[in-house]
Amino acid sequence: MATASVAVRPHENVTGYVTKTRKMLINGKWVDSASGKTFETYNPATGEVLSHVAEGDKEDIDRAVKAARAAFETGPWSKISPSERGRMIWRLGDLLEKHLEEFAQLESLDNGKPLKIARVADLPLSIDHFRYYAGWATKIEGNTVPMSGWKQGMFHAYTVREPVGVVGQIIPWNFPLLMAAWKLGPALASGCTIVLKPAEQTPLTALRLGELIQEAGIPDGVVNIVPGYGETAGAALAAHPDVDKVAFTGSTEVGKLILKAAAGNLKKVSLELGGKSPNIIFDDADLDSAIPGAASAIFFNQGQCCCAGSRLYIEKKAFDKVVEGVADNASKIRVRPGFDPDSDLGPLVSEEQLNRVCGFLESGAKEGAKAVTGGSREGTTGYFVKPTVLINTNPKMKVVQEEIFGPVVTAIPFSDPSEIAATANDTIYGLAAGIWTRDIKKAHSLASKIKAGTVWINCYNIFDASLPFGGYKQSGWGREMGHEVLEHYTEVKSVCAAL
Ligand code: NAP
Ligand code: MG
Repeated sequence: MATASVAVRPHENVTGYVTKTRKMLINGKWVDSASGKTFETYNPATGEVLSHVAEGDKEDIDRAVKAARAAFETGPWSKISPSERGRMIWRLGDLLEKHLEEFAQLESLDNGKPLKIARVADLPLSIDHFRYYAGWATKIEGNTVPMSGWKQGMFHAYTVREPVGVVGQIIPWNFPLLMAAWKLGPALASGCTIVLKPAEQTPLTALRLGELIQEAGIPDGVVNIVPGYGETAGAALAAHPDVDKVAFTGSTEVGKLILKAAAGNLKKVSLELGGKSPNIIFDDADLDSAIPGAASAIFFNQGQCCCAGSRLYIEKKAFDKVVEGVADNASKIRVRPGFDPDSDLGPLVSEEQLNRVCGFLESGAKEGAKAVTGGSREGTTGYFVKPTVLINTNPKMKVVQEEIFGPVVTAIPFSDPSEIAATANDTIYGLAAGIWTRDIKKAHSLASKIKAGTVWINCYNIFDASLPFGGYKQSGWGREMGHEVLEHYTEVKSVCAAL
């Protein structure tokens, strides 16, 4: 039941933080928007206004890009040693750790997610991300190149990797702080300067992180944070002629708009977009781990994960047992406000998202899908949806084809293991997949046939800063994390000298 019990005592910094109008960070100063306008963010557990935030637009983006350009070309950032850069990024991770509880609370309030989850997932992953990329700052290298078509000794040739320049970063609301970390860590390690636009629904942790960025000693203008709407601030950043690269995470639909906007100056683009990920359970799987694994694959973060295991394929013999088990798991999930210590699943991020997800539930019901559990909104206050397991679907239904981005899984039986790869790949997306079996040959053979950027075997939603993540097909361009992401933030220069 969605009760309003708030048993956790709000951190004093958090109470103070949300009550003051939040400004934007440009060139090391906290400033109002040029228009003077602000927008509201809401507490998704209650629907009440949480905070007022400066509303950035084209002019603010322009100011921020100018600051980032100056910091890149002539500012202290351009002269700093990689080692010192790394130390600052590491310090940022340490500061985040010091303020873990405060950030976890702010994230839970702004996004809705259970506080206990923010404490053990969003915060530790963000902290580790900064530490991982702190290490990379000193390891971005080129090569000496033996030239193939020229006589030995005629030339000395080598490559260097240089920072790409001013980077625009546009992030979503599902993991507001973690997505900021995913973007900022590698860009800072590479020596870029940044204009970050957080999602309108959840700007607070990114803005508070801006204060820690200053405290970590990262010079003015290196990271600028401009909250605002996608259609205005986001679009201006994607189209800005003096931005060298844009990194985007969000919907496939907006990803395509980013691409068009970027065409003006042919800025580099990386995109981390939506998904409709297959999670495949074979008869021979250890069902004691596959069943809770499948439940967590979809219900984690209220189902608002781009890689959520939203199409659950179960081999026929195990179908009834798995459906019953996942439904049983779902019905035991406590749907409560994020600050309730018993909350396993919080509200969706916004009223818009609530309506979107409920729209999918209605369309599924109309087309003949049956909810074994859940199937509707929870309560009338806040944006809660019951964890839902749908059966009796067919491949053409919207609930099977489209990204719902809510706690809704479609459970689908299969009888011919030789066809499951084709079925799993029958989607415009290719972000992630799960495979559950005791047969390692079967697992790796199927992993090789799945068209997705990540395949989890006998686990799901396992992330690490060292593991590249991103999409095949319409799930995106390029990879986040690992050393792969550094390619997005660097240019390779070949230098060839006649001897
Ligand atoms: P979205 O519109 O794609 O938002 C992602 C980011 O892009 C936000 O910062 C957004 O700003 C910004 N944006 C929006 N329109 C823009 C434009 N024309 N130019 C530049 N930036 C723009 O996603 P959403 O509307 O929040 O959610 C819609 C659906 O997207 C969800 O239901 C889900 O299916 C999918 N989604 C996927 C991910 C993912 O990680 N792959 C994350 C979030 C959502 P605003 O905050 O102002 O919109
Ligand atoms: Mg939007």
